[in-house]
Amino acid sequence: MVVTRHTPSLRTHAGLPAEMEAGATASVEVRLTCADGCDLRGAVIELTTPQGEHGTCEVGWVEDPREGAQGANARFVVTAPASTGEAEWTVRFPTQSVSGVPHEEHALVLESTVVPHATSMAIWDVPSPLQGTEFAVRVGVKCATCCVLAGQVVQVLDEAGVVVGEGRLGAAPLAGTDALYETLVALRAPERPGMGSRRVICVPGDLALPHHGSSGTFTFRSLPPPEHTVTVRIVPEGTEASMADIEVRLGDYRAHTDLNGVARVGVPRGSHELSAWRVDIEPISSRLDVSGDAAVEVVAVPRRVVDEDAERWG
Ligand SMILES: [Zn+2]
Ligand SMILES: [Zn+2]
Repeated sequence: MVVTRHTPSLRTHAGLPAEMEAGATASVEVRLTCADGCDLRGAVIELTTPQGEHGTCEVGWVEDPREGAQGANARFVVTAPASTGEAEWTVRFPTQSVSGVPHEEHALVLESTVVPHATSMAIWDVPSPLQGTEFAVRVGVKCATCCVLAGQVVQVLDEAGVVVGEGRLGAAPLAGTDALYETLVALRAPERPGMGSRRVICVPGDLALPHHGSSGTFTFRSLPPPEHTVTVRIVPEGTEASMADIEVRLGDYRAHTDLNGVARVGVPRGSHELSAWRVDIEPISSRLDVSGDAAVEVVAVPRRVVDEDAERWG
């Protein structure tokens, strides 16, 4: 008697995502059918990964709402390899007997393109340094899948593309973030006053998984050196609060008040916008013409708390 082998078939609804980030996982469901309508529960299928590793998976029986019917399905999770490029997984139904009936081999190839992890950069705390002096900016870099980026190098390039500063990302993520690693990069302002622009790059290397680099730019104003000192005394009115640690600005030049509410701000001669700000006092703003050392007093009153209910019903 001639035994006829049945012909099974394997397919997926969606296959794998077209692109997978290195090391990422994806869940795949394959549906197994026999042209002769056999119940293929209990059959074994094999999976070969792009790295050539083999595994097996037993076929179960699940509801399949997409086909409005039940069917023999196998579900497994695949992990994208660390190397980028085209990757193939082979799902194979090896020759085997199911319920005493021999079935032929059948294979299905699943493909995806493995891509490096994306990274992003943030730059903050950019000051207005005096010309020719040292200053620093904060740079943070984050992997889209939250890899540890501790120790990665950040470089700052000037307008000519020359590296003018370098830092290494800190050992732990910035407090309050998942995976933003930051560093303080020390720089020197040009010898002439005016606007400058810098490019910041970070190309992560020596990591288990490949990463795309990221970059950002920032601009800053180099200030001419101060010629005169303006002593600003903040005088409290209607408040017992200390007048210490209030930021006082004369244009781009700034200082903080001491315990006596006094700030000494160095500025070049000319007209400057004088402002002082702290969360609990009303903002102070006035104009000051500076032609020599000067002392001024400004009055600080407590910040008015706006009671929206009182305004609405009062
Ligand atoms: Zn069959
Ligand atoms: Zn990553």
